[in-house]
Amino acid sequence: MLGPAVGNYACSVVYRLPRGQTPFERHPFCGHCNADLKPIDLFPILSWLRTRGKCRYCAGVIPSIYTVIELVCGALFVAYFLHFGISEQFLLYAIYGVFVVILAAIHWQQGWISSSIYSYAWAAILVARTLAEHTIYSTIQSSVVMLVLVLALYRVAGNTQSPFEKPWIWWFVLMGALLPLPLWYFIAPIYVLKLLVPKQARVIVYAAGALTLPLILP
Ligand SMILES: [Zn+2]
Repeated sequence: MLGPAVGNYACSVVYRLPRGQTPFERHPFCGHCNADLKPIDLFPILSWLRTRGKCRYCAGVIPSIYTVIELVCGALFVAYFLHFGISEQFLLYAIYGVFVVILAAIHWQQGWISSSIYSYAWAAILVARTLAEHTIYSTIQSSVVMLVLVLALYRVAGNTQSPFEKPWIWWFVLMGALLPLPLWYFIAPIYVLKLLVPKQARVIVYAAGALTLPLILP
């Protein structure tokens, strides 16, 4: 229940952040006709199914990505609950997961990485790992070592452009930050998969990787 509800808020961030609006400056509204939405329009998943993905006021099509966001957040909360139970780790990784979903949805729609959302996701990892390992060094070490590694990979592949505009670099740094170095062999298949899938679908690979990797943590 909580996952899709949080996902519902995540949708408004995904819509508003690239348009320069803040998530709380206005009540939820239709992106086509600007109508303010009533409580009945705001049920995660169900409202979308009820109107078959259309606005109740103008019949404008509501992109299915918003329902996908709610479903993914629901699945995420269930999976993290089964793995972590109700605990601080669950809370922190659920927060992290929601930021990753927002990051991926904006990347999918706009083609860029939101630096603020990225920072929140990384900070959630930092707090979670610091609680578990009692040191901030391991997360910083993982992040820096992964950054150096992917920058080296990028150069070895013969690229000469600035690597920092490449979203995949940042996705792998995030995945590196999640795991202690001995567990990094789980990240290698994600890199191989990235090379195999078409460019448009890669963000799905990154998001799936970043969202499932916490489940291998002890
Ligand atoms: Zn409308």
